[in-house]
Amino acid sequence: MSCVFVVDTEHRPLDPVHPGAARRLLSRGQAAAWRRSPFTLILKRAVPDAQPHPLRLKLDPGSRTTGLALVTASPAAPAGEETAVDAGRVVWAGELTHRGQAVHEKLVTRRAIRCGRRQRHTRYRPARFANRRRPEGWLPPSLESRLANTETWVRRLCLLANVTAISQELVKFDTQAMQHPEISGAEYQQGALAGYELREYLLEKWGRRCAYCHATGVPLQVEHIVPKTRNGSDCASNLTLACAPCNQRKGTRTAEEFGHPEVQAQAQRPLRDAAAVNASRWALFQRLRATGLPVETGTGGRTKWNRTQRNLPKTHWLDAACVGASTPEHLLVAGIRPLTITATGRHACQMCRMDRFGFPRTGPKATSTVGGLHTGDLVRAVVPAPSVKAGTYVGRLAVRASGMCNITTARHGVVQGIHVRHCRPLQRSDGYGYGYGYGYGDGASHHTETEAR
Ligand SMILES: [Zn+2]
Repeated sequence: MSCVFVVDTEHRPLDPVHPGAARRLLSRGQAAAWRRSPFTLILKRAVPDAQPHPLRLKLDPGSRTTGLALVTASPAAPAGEETAVDAGRVVWAGELTHRGQAVHEKLVTRRAIRCGRRQRHTRYRPARFANRRRPEGWLPPSLESRLANTETWVRRLCLLANVTAISQELVKFDTQAMQHPEISGAEYQQGALAGYELREYLLEKWGRRCAYCHATGVPLQVEHIVPKTRNGSDCASNLTLACAPCNQRKGTRTAEEFGHPEVQAQAQRPLRDAAAVNASRWALFQRLRATGLPVETGTGGRTKWNRTQRNLPKTHWLDAACVGASTPEHLLVAGIRPLTITATGRHACQMCRMDRFGFPRTGPKATSTVGGLHTGDLVRAVVPAPSVKAGTYVGRLAVRASGMCNITTARHGVVQGIHVRHCRPLQRSDGYGYGYGYGYGDGASHHTETEAR
């Protein structure tokens, strides 16, 4: 069960509680709902001497989705103290979907429209692409948006829970753990974990596809270029990845005899360390360090090893829970359903819509705040009886300057013409949409709640 965050009346984070306990707090009037997503209660009293248990925030940054998991740091409690919080319990999980691609597409469109406009109005315009300087640490807007999303959520969770440490997956594999993969037979000398690092190394080196038929998205086997039966070594320089049929067909031939001299040639070239490190993960690491919390880093190989050891399926949030060497031996994940967080952006900066030639298509944009409500707010609208629209609607608000707004609900789709005076805000727009994904062990229950979008 995902826990419910609790803060006291002075916004100090307390221990997250079981949803049952949260319901009791609400029904006794001891707390009120503070945030809908992630669900957070605010107590009606101050708890100045609270000593909440330390939690570790674990992150698996991805290009589309970043996994987030809050895990109780072990050891959980001082000896002799009774606690409801076990070591290694995932108390909350989330999957943050970025809008990097959307940012990129919008910029491309904008550039095309601006270029077109300039072409029409200017006979000749000297090239001006080389007279601008980018600030230190500049990242493309699509990457910057990913980083900013992640940083936002790290800071948000630090306000809702007692986060005392952060774990982040930084690189795909660790050459140190593998001890010069091209020289030593790492898999067989350095134990099971090194095998996982080696596999990640090979995946990166061979582009995550079969070296012979270039098939992607199929299970890949580690394959000896010069077969073991012919005294081929276990060094990384003699290993590649092949799909099962290619591996079968190759049999005891070498890659050259199999008709792939290029594989043999590529195998000799070691992959540089830098290939496994990407700029945005390093930038994220720097920003996490700036929060002042200790940041532990892990490799992709270690994450996969941790996850396989604990028999967990591959999802973003479980990957996050398995990041780093500090992962507890037993992870308690039963019943957790990750909060799916989708970055939606706050609003468009464009002052008026334009057609595909860049000519204005509409009048100047009207206000996005009407009656104290903003486009993107989650609201409950109760429309009284004589109206055709009578009923209760919960959903995302799109304001109109006239006051007659639209509400996007899960149950009725888009409901138009609801006056803003009938609406009460449930959660203010914060640039993210919310829902619930599949939890661990949910199996075939294919339904998602998108009401709280
Ligand atoms: Zn193949």
